[in-house]
Amino acid sequence: MSTVPQQRLLRTEIPGPLSRELHARKAAAVSSGVGTTLPVYIERAGGGILVDVDGNQLIDFGSGIAVTSVGNAAPRVVEAVRAQVADFTHTCFMVTPYEEYLAVCEALNEVTPGDHEKRSALFNSGAEAVENAIKVARHATGRSAVVVFDHAYHGRTNLTMALTAKSMPYKHGFGPFAGDIYRVPMAYAYRWPTGADNCAEEAFATFVEQVHTQVGESHVAAVLVEPIQGEGGFIVPAPGFLRRVADWCREHGIVLIADEIQSGFCRTGDWFASEHEGIVPDLITTAKGIAGGLPLAAVTGRAELMDAVHGGGLGGTYGGNPVACAAALATIETMRADDLAGAAKRIESIMVPRLRQLAAKYDVIGDVRGRGAMIAVELVAGGGLKEPNAALAAALSAACHQEGLVTLTAGTYANVLRFLPPLVIGEDLLNEGLDIIEGVLGRLA
Ligand code: PMP
Repeated sequence: MSTVPQQRLLRTEIPGPLSRELHARKAAAVSSGVGTTLPVYIERAGGGILVDVDGNQLIDFGSGIAVTSVGNAAPRVVEAVRAQVADFTHTCFMVTPYEEYLAVCEALNEVTPGDHEKRSALFNSGAEAVENAIKVARHATGRSAVVVFDHAYHGRTNLTMALTAKSMPYKHGFGPFAGDIYRVPMAYAYRWPTGADNCAEEAFATFVEQVHTQVGESHVAAVLVEPIQGEGGFIVPAPGFLRRVADWCREHGIVLIADEIQSGFCRTGDWFASEHEGIVPDLITTAKGIAGGLPLAAVTGRAELMDAVHGGGLGGTYGGNPVACAAALATIETMRADDLAGAAKRIESIMVPRLRQLAAKYDVIGDVRGRGAMIAVELVAGGGLKEPNAALAAALSAACHQEGLVTLTAGTYANVLRFLPPLVIGEDLLNEGLDIIEGVLGRLA
């Protein structure tokens, strides 16, 4: 367990004077292109608490954007990193390899969906993993087109900006973008024009028709999809939609890539969100929760695809750094030993009923959705109107921050308040966070 006291404590206004001083330095030293959600500067963190430089203790409903699922500075991770960093810090796996890289790939091949023969390759960031999954799919199929969805987020590099749906802030002014990428509607039940019940079937029919007429199946290397969309607003595809897409991909020899960078590693109550829909992706990208906060990412998939690439075609100086690998092995061990998938399910069982009660009381909550510890509320105008209410999402999030609860927003329309607590958060802190949300809703809704 973490040595950080698991209690919310406000000693100063938020942000406090020392954070404000540091933030003034940020303005003078850091590119203003690098944004900050909540400018409290963190000194220590563990369990469900972030401690800032002014001594405030904030409840963490963000996990550094779904990263510290095992908790910040999780004991097994700290121990493994300490030991590894003392042994050696880097050789470059492409020059002189080491066992830790193999062990991470073996673990990934085991925990990802499907019992077919798999291979993995390690990288540094989610975007880099997505780029490499596309490289593998293109090389293995000899085709170039990639189909992606509305509301998708896949990263900030040139190719992944092109794969990402939302212009501001991710793409605005950064073009031209990579080509041969085609966007189709997502099965977004809450906003489906003819209603949620028709969503999976109609979205699939549109998908099939648009790919057929606008791209041609035989040109498509890959369909890339987040099994639960993250930055797009925790959109859970209508049940049955992903299954139909997966079957269709198989029929046409198209590689199905599941981007589980945000939804993977026990976050949604199973190792991977794909499992809830019973789909077995051909390739799967992972990052974030994989290594307890150290930068690591991976592509895992069918051996015949991953091995189709020529030797030397994949890699990078730091990919699968030994310290990050040691952290990943300790993270995976912690997830197994402490049943963090079960912990995510328990978080859902506490959060969702309370948020549904709030939705019944406040009609500005249009939708409560997500799985496990990846839960969100979509805010709307209310009075039966679904017009996105971004102003309320921003105001609620800011009010939570003032009370010492770190929350994040999301969504194409910036009107989603999302909750990503560490899976090790205590029930008391979880409930206290929900009390804060209830309080600020009462004041602002
Ligand atoms: N894909 C998904 C689904 C993500 O949520 C993210 C990060 N939010 C990325 C890709 C990009 O990951 P990174 O920021 O590590 O490059």
